[in-house]
Amino acid sequence: MQAIVTSKRVYYPNEPLENSWFLPNIHEIDSKESLICLCKCGRVFEAKSMHADILGETIVCPDCGNKTFLDTQTFITPKHFKYFKRFDWSYEVYTKDGCLHSTAFFYMPHVNGSDLSIQFDKEILCDLSVDCRGKIVSAYQNTKMLDSKILHDENFITIGSLVAESIAKNIAFLIHSTYKKRFDALSPTLDAMDTDVIERVEVMRFLLQYPDIKDPRLFYFNRAFLDMLPRKSDLKNTLDQISANKPKSVRRQVYKNAENFIKKARHKNRYDPLADVLFCSYFKDANLAVSLCGVPHKIKSLFFAMDNKTSIEKLFDLLFAHYEPVRIKNFLLMMIQEGTAKLRMWNDTIEMVGKQGFDEVLQANYTPHQLNLHNLHERILDFYIPFYEEADANEFEYAETQKRSQKYSGSN
Ligand SMILES: [Zn+2]
Repeated sequence: MQAIVTSKRVYYPNEPLENSWFLPNIHEIDSKESLICLCKCGRVFEAKSMHADILGETIVCPDCGNKTFLDTQTFITPKHFKYFKRFDWSYEVYTKDGCLHSTAFFYMPHVNGSDLSIQFDKEILCDLSVDCRGKIVSAYQNTKMLDSKILHDENFITIGSLVAESIAKNIAFLIHSTYKKRFDALSPTLDAMDTDVIERVEVMRFLLQYPDIKDPRLFYFNRAFLDMLPRKSDLKNTLDQISANKPKSVRRQVYKNAENFIKKARHKNRYDPLADVLFCSYFKDANLAVSLCGVPHKIKSLFFAMDNKTSIEKLFDLLFAHYEPVRIKNFLLMMIQEGTAKLRMWNDTIEMVGKQGFDEVLQANYTPHQLNLHNLHERILDFYIPFYEEADANEFEYAETQKRSQKYSGSN
């Protein structure tokens, strides 16, 4: 910042100073035991105190009575946590080259050694830029500064959390005003989601990424699942693709599951509907589908995650080729209800089935047996060991299969 310094006043022609400062290093230069104080009202004066206490209000501006001065020395000292009674900053909000920007900064004075004039450096606290598809193109955080704490509503709080909130408010405002028509229409649902402003920006970025989506609640859906669907405009339209051509009872259950999840969803929580997708597509009988879809999402999603979609489908193909749907439903329900106790064996089973080419071996050789997870795992393992050995007789991997065969022996 260009500022004009006279003996008593500093004039800030363009922007006001955010904070008042004292420059303790002045006395080292002219060897006087005094501080040069620079009040944000523009007044420059000398103070006697050598060690002005930031929180003790020992310095008072003779013009405006301001008692809050910051020590430039403290700011340049690399110390992890600092506490300030007060600290203010400015913002810039603008669009450039199709990107939306928000920057938090402050001006910090320093003394020019040659002529002892005061100059100001623009210090960036935090900077965020988002492009028209919601992608973050640049993000900068001056962590050294943002970890410092200031008094806010009678508590000390990190500058970073206040700055992040304000930057998010700016970006939310920019996105809304840039894409006004669309976000005017989306706002009622966004407001009803009752998120904090930082999460709201995440949701808005998601909506920029998916221009066809008209329902912000789809933010809480697993991305791989959304990307798989040809149509995704609102919740109903999206879920109808899971339960397409299913009776009303199934569609109602699928919808209820997603709605219940979304109501409580926050931050990194994502709804993974793979279990419902599979139950709806494999079980033709609506009653069987409803009873499986009715299992709470929290338990179902342990066993059925989008990451394992292809492997689980291969396993379902195998099961449905050899067993009655009602038996498969009973098997799945029993396994899911046991929760994490069965998870390792289930994951191991689908990992084997998912190996390239192994499903063909299984389809050709598998014979049905009493269906429970232990039997299924053992039977698949019997085929898997020779398949694996043939595929790769590497010593290490042989040891892997040996380990696998021993891992579950004795378990039920
Ligand atoms: Zn003043």
